[in-house]
Amino acid sequence: MIVDFHTHVMPSWAINERETLAHEDPCFGRLYGEKAAKITTADDLIVSMDRAGIARSVILNIGWRSHDLCVRTNDYILESAAKWPDRIVPFCMLQPALPELALRELERCAAGGAVGIGELRPDLQGYSLADTVLLEPLAAAAAHHQLILLTHVSEPVGHVYPGKGTITPEQPYAFACAFPELTLVCAHWGGGLPFYALMPEVAAAMPNVYFDTAATHYLYRLGVFEIVSHLVGTDRILFGSDYPLIRQRLALEKVEEAHLGHDAQQAVLWRNAVSVLDVRGRTRRD
Ligand SMILES: [Zn+2]
Repeated sequence: MIVDFHTHVMPSWAINERETLAHEDPCFGRLYGEKAAKITTADDLIVSMDRAGIARSVILNIGWRSHDLCVRTNDYILESAAKWPDRIVPFCMLQPALPELALRELERCAAGGAVGIGELRPDLQGYSLADTVLLEPLAAAAAHHQLILLTHVSEPVGHVYPGKGTITPEQPYAFACAFPELTLVCAHWGGGLPFYALMPEVAAAMPNVYFDTAATHYLYRLGVFEIVSHLVGTDRILFGSDYPLIRQRLALEKVEEAHLGHDAQQAVLWRNAVSVLDVRGRTRRD
């Protein structure tokens, strides 16, 4: 089986209100403001998964600035997971800049079956991952419910692209140092954070940090698979496509092209994801 750890979908009402939302919300505007940017529902995702031979997908929400939009889209993601319990793993969104509402929403989503929180966009939501005082109550609640956190991270150097943003490696690193017990997934190869694992103290400070491969071929040469395997271990890499920005089948072809050995490829495509998600006892080994 194959697990895609990084997909995004939207409810039909949000797709219908696309222009208004793109004006209102900085993250939505960044991701879907361009008419050419693909936007899809959970039904579309299931069709894509069937075509690509993907057994399960993690659905991530986006970094809404408004608490209300977090709640409404969380409802859709939780409903989608209830509709396809064997196919969809639900991650919800909070607005940590409004700590009391965020904490209440975390509790509600955990009770509703959420497995994680993400894809966090602190730069667009108005806080920093390095603000560990602000985030402490949320981190404690996430640890209590064994929720996985997944954050967007981008490269401090290199080309600029619409969703790049300013969450560079030092921010998830500060967060991981403050809350080492939490399982943290850094999207897009952690903006290069794995390269600093050559520093022994950095490697030692990240016992529960994983890196997803979302949008790999937009960012890196495919040698990144083998190099990051050497730096942090193959067991820290989670296959993610960034669907619908990247087609799932194309993302899988890129993993093939990276020529990892069979065992490493299986680890990246599903085994690591199963062990991370198993923390919550949510994934059958099939
Ligand atoms: Zn991202």
